[in-house]
Amino acid sequence: MKFIDPHIHPSSRTTDDYERMALSGCVAITEPAFWAGFDRDSARGFYDYFRQLTEYEPRRAGQYGIKHYTWICINPKEADDPQFAREVMAIFSEFLDKPNVLGIGEIGLNKNTKNELTILEEQIELAAQYNQMILVHTPHLEDKLKGTRLIMDALENNGKIDPQRVMIDHAEEHTVGEILDRGFWAGLTIYPNTKCTPQRAADILEIHGTERIWVNSAADWGPSDPLAVPKCGVELKRRGHSDELVTKVIFDNPQTFLSQNERFTL
Ligand SMILES: [Zn+2]
Repeated sequence: MKFIDPHIHPSSRTTDDYERMALSGCVAITEPAFWAGFDRDSARGFYDYFRQLTEYEPRRAGQYGIKHYTWICINPKEADDPQFAREVMAIFSEFLDKPNVLGIGEIGLNKNTKNELTILEEQIELAAQYNQMILVHTPHLEDKLKGTRLIMDALENNGKIDPQRVMIDHAEEHTVGEILDRGFWAGLTIYPNTKCTPQRAADILEIHGTERIWVNSAADWGPSDPLAVPKCGVELKRRGHSDELVTKVIFDNPQTFLSQNERFTL
């Protein structure tokens, strides 16, 4: 089953995972910049991280025939200190021209604070200035619906962002409809314990259809599953869906969205 995992954090996983993904049919991944599990002490910590994402990981993935793409940003969790966030944003321009960078992400909100929102708006403006695609992280649990709406409002209020070039990720049953109605793409994140299971993702796809939706593992340093995307494919097949539908969800849709940046090739 050929697939793309369009949101995963392999820099926090072992090389064995690349091998298992390749054996399962993975041909490409994209790795958004995110919170490392601890707060960095200085903007230079991000400089090193962005080098890892643009220089080291593409080589590691390439050993297994997997194409590695990435997104640059300051994540919402560390964006709560605006001065610090702006120091990090000042180094973006060095990395946005790298051949595997597809845009700004994953930006968004964590606790829906005023500071997070300020930095989100500034990063959206940066994406507009540099004509970048955007990958959005939506907050979890009780903050999700409110946070998702705040983020979509900020994107629309900017006035220069094409919603077709924005992926709103970690969507769930109560947010996916509104995301699609407002013209954005929606991402379903499949996690073993929290977030969507393969079954819940399959339910959502059956209710909302397969237009402008992708599925991903968002696998990181926590309990997560780098094979979540093909497992969702297996669940769809088990329910009797066609090979074409499965391919659309786990391969064609991410390819369509990501190919809006001409750097993305397979
Ligand atoms: Zn992520």
